[in-house]
Amino acid sequence: MHQQLINFIRDTYATQDFVPLHAPTFLGNEKDYLAETIDSTFVSSVGKFVDEFEHSMQTFTGSTRAVATVNGTAALHAALHLADVNAGDLVITQALTFVATCNALHHMGAKPVFIDIEPTAFGLCPQATSIWLAEHAELDDAGYCRHKVSGAAIKAIMPMHTFGHPVQLDEFVAICKLWNLNLVEDAAESLGAFYKGQHTGTVGRFGALSFNGNKVITTGGGGMLLCKETEDGLRAKHITTTAKVPHSYEFYHDEPAFNYRMPNINAALGCAQMERLELMLNSKRILAVRYADFFKGSEFRFVKEPDYAHSNYWLNAVVCPNLASRNALLETTNAQGVMTRPVWQLMHRLPMFSDALRGDLIHSEWAEARLVNLPSSPILEIA
Ligand SMILES: *Cc1c(COP(=O)(O)O)cnc(C)c1O
Repeated sequence: MHQQLINFIRDTYATQDFVPLHAPTFLGNEKDYLAETIDSTFVSSVGKFVDEFEHSMQTFTGSTRAVATVNGTAALHAALHLADVNAGDLVITQALTFVATCNALHHMGAKPVFIDIEPTAFGLCPQATSIWLAEHAELDDAGYCRHKVSGAAIKAIMPMHTFGHPVQLDEFVAICKLWNLNLVEDAAESLGAFYKGQHTGTVGRFGALSFNGNKVITTGGGGMLLCKETEDGLRAKHITTTAKVPHSYEFYHDEPAFNYRMPNINAALGCAQMERLELMLNSKRILAVRYADFFKGSEFRFVKEPDYAHSNYWLNAVVCPNLASRNALLETTNAQGVMTRPVWQLMHRLPMFSDALRGDLIHSEWAEARLVNLPSSPILEIA
């Protein structure tokens, strides 16, 4: 089986060389746009590509306002800041995620509450979230959600669309309404993934995308903060650009803020990548269908999009029957130059988040022991 898989992957990518987990492709106007920024000298905080990139992202996602940032973590950080997450507050999220989700709330002085995932799409489980809230939270006299035992304010729910498979957003919208919480979507992995026709990251008050080198499209490093409300969009632009009040020569900044603006040179890359986004998404979908066919009838369960959603299949994944099988698969593939990876270690196992509050993490632990990510770069013949 392992050898068949390796052969299948080598055939798919038509190579005997090292097969990475996810490599970017630059087959469009990337070089032209980069040259344009260099020729114009506008490589940094001024230039037309940032506006263009934000605009194309708004058009593609249907977001009210998209604000480009230096990376996805910065977008999450700014989102939590705007969602009024403060020191000592709690934010509900999943233990099965990339560490950036938790770093962002740590930078606000907040603490994560780790709730289980649901075991088909591997994102935060709304039922588990409701159960935890019912048991551990209450609304105070002013209508704010508080942790019963400590009295700490619970400010937001931050689900992550794992590998580009959308979580059950309707349920989270309802939970947030009931408990007076902000919904902040970590959509870093899910550009091109839709929940019931709505782009991920646009259902909650805020959503954050990432354009790191291994994501669906890349700007070298980069991110995008998606805002549902016009007012939040204005605030997002302001606080990610040092809160400078526009003036032709005076420097006046009206609040403590961030320098999280995406440089024009990165946005140039983003504009070129956006032109080929649909192609890349199609290519990734075709790849996913091929993997699904390959694993059909085997003891490995290929991770498919949930029936309520259209995934981007950012990283393809299989669920192995057990930990030993997972380890064997990782060993053989990596030894033969086909890159595969286990899922991230659960966040509560990391030293800085080990004392965080948490619910039952049965499905997270089950997934941690079994998930393997497979090479997922767009197939060149199609992209
Ligand atoms: C990639 C990623 C981020 C953001 O990463 P940056 O490298 O800061 O752009 C955040 N959360 C998740 C789940 C991610 O996969």
